[in-house]
Amino acid sequence: MKIICIGRNYREHAKELNNPLPEKPVFFMKPDTALLPPHNPFFYPSFTNDLHYEVELVLKVCKSGRSIEEKFAHKYFDEIAVGIDFTARDLQAECKQKGLPWEVAKAFDFSAPVSPFQPLKNFNRDQGIRFGLKINDEWRQLGNSNDMIFSFEKIISYVSGFVMLRQGDYIFTGTPAGVGPTKLNDRFELYLDDKPVMHFNVK
Ligand code: MG
Repeated sequence: MKIICIGRNYREHAKELNNPLPEKPVFFMKPDTALLPPHNPFFYPSFTNDLHYEVELVLKVCKSGRSIEEKFAHKYFDEIAVGIDFTARDLQAECKQKGLPWEVAKAFDFSAPVSPFQPLKNFNRDQGIRFGLKINDEWRQLGNSNDMIFSFEKIISYVSGFVMLRQGDYIFTGTPAGVGPTKLNDRFELYLDDKPVMHFNVK
């Protein structure tokens, strides 16, 4: 399986990083080795001094397809989770400045902890799907899927025009405002629809 990640999908987050609003989705990928095995701590990588958290809704692809039309895109995902797109912001800044790819900053081992998935039909998408991150019992990020610039369907349609989606692929759908640095011994608690669904410690 592969992990596709959307960047800059919330206005307030694009603003906080001084990025222009995208006219089309920005995406990049992480390998399956980026997943954090359940009940494991997250070890702060030695190659960065500015590791940022980004809490995001994560879709699971339920059917393979390519060049999917937006009106059919809803048939290609049926489960949702919440995850962290860990980012070595210092390395990413260097990549951006030099116009280089982002893999060293984004695709490293265990950079994509993801909670257990839940059926999407259990959520009311009209009201928006709420999600968030508490660190050491303090809210750091709160998001709602209704604030996304590009909808789940738009993302599926756009990405599948370049990369075939396979059953079991994950799609990180972008982070809301409030990203910030991770510290040793932080306790991460991820929320989906106001319920805690995953926690881990930073070692
Ligand atoms: Mg992200």
